[in-house]
Amino acid sequence: MELWVTERQTPTHAISMRSTATLESMQTPYQHLAVVDTEQWGRMLVLDGMVMTTERDEFVYHEMMVHPALSTHPHPRDVLVVGGGDGGVIREVLRHRSVQRAVLVEIDAEVLRVSQKHLPSIACALDDARVHVICGDGYAHIAEHRDAYDVILVDSTEPVGPAVSLFTKGFYQGIFEALRDDGLFVAQSDNPWFKADLIRTVTRDVAAIFPIMQLYTAHIPTYPSGLWTFTMGSKVHDPRAVDARHIAVQGTKYYAPSLHHAAFALPKFVADLVARDA
Ligand code: SAM
Repeated sequence: MELWVTERQTPTHAISMRSTATLESMQTPYQHLAVVDTEQWGRMLVLDGMVMTTERDEFVYHEMMVHPALSTHPHPRDVLVVGGGDGGVIREVLRHRSVQRAVLVEIDAEVLRVSQKHLPSIACALDDARVHVICGDGYAHIAEHRDAYDVILVDSTEPVGPAVSLFTKGFYQGIFEALRDDGLFVAQSDNPWFKADLIRTVTRDVAAIFPIMQLYTAHIPTYPSGLWTFTMGSKVHDPRAVDARHIAVQGTKYYAPSLHHAAFALPKFVADLVARDA
């Protein structure tokens, strides 16, 4: 008998992957968690029925969440990751030699545990000396810190359950205050095919708080629609002003100096989601 794992990306559209084994399936205090081996994409973390990360295409999302931001900030030293319990964003943050402290605030301890057990290629940097893992609510952490970080990366689940608060204007205001004077942040902002309204709201709210707001994209085959967006809010540094010749990050497979600027070139139907005055 064939086993298929299906994510219903909308009520009428789904993605299915033939799988060979289920390694974990549990209800945590926050969400349903599964780890599945798939033939096409390798091992996969699934939360509340949504693909979080797969061994085969994870590098795209994790590199594009991190490197546009840490290539835009001239000297990122203290970095905060909200969510990100699979460890992929932290692994990419540590590629930047200027980073002295990488704090990860993940609400669900089980995500950390199973990622380190079953996804070692993704979670490999969580025990690095520069990394400080906090099991807690990212919203609360942001509210308790001011002028503390150079870069903040919001690697959260979709706005459901504990992540609802991470898509609010109040959270973005808290991020503004937790950042230093020339700080910047990036949040994953879902896909333009099924979540256009979310992108409209996130970009509008970030643009109302940060002097610089930019949307950019990446191609992630196992995410809904395959076209993913990220929203950057910056107090001073503009990602479009970066001199690509000075981008020095090593070991990436998707991000590259030439791609840094290209990622901010939006298809017209995506650009139209960003308010004119943004
Ligand atoms: N790359 C994935 C995506 O784009 O959907 C996200 C992966 S990461 C595993 C998402 C993490 O956010 C989950 O482990 C979840 O537990 C965590 N999370 C959700 N709400 C949170 C909150 N309020 N504070 C901290 N972590 C949270």
